[in-house]
Amino acid sequence: CGVVAIHHHPEAARQAYLALYALQHRGQESAGIATADGTNLSNIKGMGLVSEIFTEDVLAKLHGNMAIGHTRYSTTGDSALLNAQPIRVDSTKGLIAIAHNGNLVNLGAVRARLERAGAFFQTTSDSEIIVQLIAHSKESTLVDAIADSLRQVDGAFSLVMMTRDRIFAARDPRGFRPLSMGRIENPDGPDTIVFASETCAFDLLRAKYERDVAPGELVMVTSDGVTSRQYSTGIQQASCIFEHVYFARPDSRIYGRWVQESREQMGRQLVRESGVDADLVVPVPDSGVTAAIGYAAESGIPFRFGLIRNHYVGRTFIEPEQRVRDFGVKLKLNPVRNLLEGKRIILIDDSIIRGTTSRKIVRMVRAAGAKEVHLRISCPPTISPCFYGVDTPRKKELIAANSSIEEIRQFIEADSLAYLSLEGLQNACNGGEGNTYCVACYTGSYPTDWVDVDEILPAAA
Ligand code: 5GP
Ligand code: SF4
Ligand code: MG
Repeated sequence: CGVVAIHHHPEAARQAYLALYALQHRGQESAGIATADGTNLSNIKGMGLVSEIFTEDVLAKLHGNMAIGHTRYSTTGDSALLNAQPIRVDSTKGLIAIAHNGNLVNLGAVRARLERAGAFFQTTSDSEIIVQLIAHSKESTLVDAIADSLRQVDGAFSLVMMTRDRIFAARDPRGFRPLSMGRIENPDGPDTIVFASETCAFDLLRAKYERDVAPGELVMVTSDGVTSRQYSTGIQQASCIFEHVYFARPDSRIYGRWVQESREQMGRQLVRESGVDADLVVPVPDSGVTAAIGYAAESGIPFRFGLIRNHYVGRTFIEPEQRVRDFGVKLKLNPVRNLLEGKRIILIDDSIIRGTTSRKIVRMVRAAGAKEVHLRISCPPTISPCFYGVDTPRKKELIAANSSIEEIRQFIEADSLAYLSLEGLQNACNGGEGNTYCVACYTGSYPTDWVDVDEILPAAA
């Protein structure tokens, strides 16, 4: 998911809209914006893309100089409007709206305890738990109640909250998901403070990146300015390395590191670890592009766009009556036969999850006349599901959890297959920043103590 918050801007809803537009890649299922004007708190959300939900008329209904927004990628809870965010709750502590990226891992236990205390849940989304904890907290001030609540939940959360007159932003103690703070300087009054999942959102707002919200930090913004407290300390950072591999945009800087730089290093390291002689380096667009540029630069093998992606594939389209083989992939990707014919091709992609898409792509490149197809993946084999906000399927559907690399190579019908080593990936994402990453989907060793698997993963397919 993507989250944004705007404190003090005359067009707060419009600013949130622009930021969500830049964060659309983090979730396409639903989106919402809540605004506050000191007295009222309005909230509008819908299914679909940001641009589909927020027309001029809709934005005009969102008053106030503060806003939070969310774009949803479904991991827990049903995929329905009910679970779209921001969630707005009228509690004993006043009106609160929340937008959350990540997954809580102890929600079953906390929800049961809250229900015994009389809480009534409006949604099946894990994010509502945090608001209910705040509402039921014994702490007298709101900021203490929030800190108290954040200490009771475990898992991944980068979140923004809004009351009638304040904005809060927080990250879980391990800093699983990114969250940055920026500023729009205003010569005639207080600066606008913005928070966003990724810094690419700041560019569109003309906000200056100031810093990341730290793991375990709770930031409060009021008309008096910005205050912060460390609500949790002493837990080892475990930022999601898959944000660098796939999820975040290359024009964002997350955990203090440019995603573009990490991806290019992944590609370079792939050459050092498993370089192969060939005629062309071809990315699987868009996710493989930046690593492929690194691979080509390091190997000296020319980079070409040998697969073209159709960017206008929506969620609904009319299929041919006689369904063509591999129709879905063909709709999205098409080979440039002129480039591929008779050539030895190195295909670069970010990951193999089930292996079915990769097989179709390898077949497509071969059918276009490629003489050899070598697949290089810019991370290690995905052997274990994510419980922290990335929608990976259960273990039995992960091809690398159940097959050797040679078996996967045979399944996808490639001439050779190699993955980036874990050490190579970690080095590519570090660049001297000293970040420590979550790599659980590659190792099966999770940074949280325990995980409520059945609450988090979809029922086995
Ligand atoms: P597979 O071969 O496992 O069927 O598909 C691999 C492709 O899925 C890769 O191109 C990769 O970019 C893409 N992918 C990896 N993770 C995700 C994800 O979380 N969501 C979506 N939509 N695609 C993903
Ligand atoms: Fe990221 Fe993988 Fe850890 Fe999930 S398990 S947070 S995808 S590194
Ligand atoms: Mg891809």
